[in-house]
Amino acid sequence: MTILLNTAVCLATVAAMEVFSIVAHKYVMHGWGWGWHRSHHEPRQGWFEKNDLYAVFFAGIAIALIALGTAGHHPLEWIGAGMTLYGLLYFVAHDGLVHQRWPFRYIPRRGYLKRLYQAHRMHHAVHGRDGCVSFGFLYAPPLPVLKRRLQRLHGGPPRAAARGSRHAAEPHAPDAARARQAP
Ligand SMILES: [Zn+2]
Ligand SMILES: [Zn+2]
Repeated sequence: MTILLNTAVCLATVAAMEVFSIVAHKYVMHGWGWGWHRSHHEPRQGWFEKNDLYAVFFAGIAIALIALGTAGHHPLEWIGAGMTLYGLLYFVAHDGLVHQRWPFRYIPRRGYLKRLYQAHRMHHAVHGRDGCVSFGFLYAPPLPVLKRRLQRLHGGPPRAAARGSRHAAEPHAPDAARARQAP
């Protein structure tokens, strides 16, 4: 029974982290936290970007929770484990799949992963901190919804939305260009 409960706490933490991340990305990272996040919307110099500090910050919280939990404050270790799992999924979906910060290239061509990939491309299709869409890292709204939102925000079809669904926001995004040049 305990194992089920612990697993449930862990998975609920993953879901809660995504909801929290959507809100934090929209209102903090694109708000007063833009100082760190800006680096992620500009060409990267070298391996790291200032935006990675957000991941380091949350890793620190996860480590503290796991330490507290294993010291007897249950179920904090399972909340920490959920945050760690979320960090892993974030790395695979966002840093890996979308931004190619791993040594191989895989672009999903169908299903939910394609939607997630293109939705985050659309997040990066707008330059600067204002007027962006799709703030989730694991959840992506349907692409037609995002296209309509982009059109509404930018008064007329922006480049990303005007290209048709297949390559929406993909080829011209600066990250895509960089990813192609990357070794
Ligand atoms: Zn952003
Ligand atoms: Zn991104």
